[in-house]
Amino acid sequence: SPVLSLRGTTKRFGDHTALDAVDLDVAEGEVVVVIGPSGSGKSTLVRCVHQLESVDGGGMYLDGELLGYSEHRGALRPLTPRGTAAQRRRVGMVFQQFNLFPHFSALRNVSEAPRRVHGRTAGEAEREATALLDRVGLGDRLHHYPRQLSGGQQQRVAIARALATRPRILLFDEPTSALDPELVEEVLGVLRGLARDGLTMVVVTHEMAFAREVADRVVFMEAGRIVETGPPAQIFGSP
Ligand code: ADP
Ligand code: ADP
Repeated sequence: SPVLSLRGTTKRFGDHTALDAVDLDVAEGEVVVVIGPSGSGKSTLVRCVHQLESVDGGGMYLDGELLGYSEHRGALRPLTPRGTAAQRRRVGMVFQQFNLFPHFSALRNVSEAPRRVHGRTAGEAEREATALLDRVGLGDRLHHYPRQLSGGQQQRVAIARALATRPRILLFDEPTSALDPELVEEVLGVLRGLARDGLTMVVVTHEMAFAREVADRVVFMEAGRIVETGPPAQIFGSP
């Protein structure tokens, strides 16, 4: 059964339909790359899954559980803010702008969630965060603050932070679009590593070479709809 399912997911901004009855399944370990012209709804799609936007129709399921609701004696009720926060932690998200806490070190940016949310001791949380920063190649930058790091390094801290809640799925919203060209590859390298490790990922990107190389499946959006989906060779043609 899929990790993530969208069924008829619809999102409107006023009378503009940003997502028009989108159906999508993402399987365990699958890397889905979402491409399409600006304004086609790619960002809205991942923002809805992370519950940063409310939806106007359809359902989204994480491991079969309807997002935004809890089931009690067969009846669905909207989640409390606390329930929503818990559900959102099962979905990791990485933004175009890295959104790090400027007054926290890299280590603290990553260890905050394990410590506060998962009730780890400070020592355990730091060990976990150190291992995650190592995994993104920043084992020697633990005590640097965001302003002391390059954009590529900051984005790698953001990836480590997204991993810290041990999410079932990771969402990336144009993770390299804000970076200087020479820094793009170090971030894509981290994504490649996560894909190899079998993480379940949805990546919105304009990096077509990355999509061709790393995607198990490419989803092409236009005007709020998925107009084509398939393996890279089918979408881009054989190399
Ligand atoms: P993409 O990521 O493919 O560039 P978006 O998901 O950002 O597209 O946007 C899809 C459409 O929804 C666009 O027409 C955009 O202007 C509109 N939109 C996105 N966010 C908002 C918002 N907060 N309010 C109004 N319209 C929005
Ligand atoms: P992108 O295409 O990279 O997602 P945009 O410039 O379209 O970026 O959007 C940047 C931000 O502005 C997003 O948070 C989006 O939700 C919001 N936004 C986009 N279009 C509109 C709009 N028409 N009205 C209000 N907010 C919008």
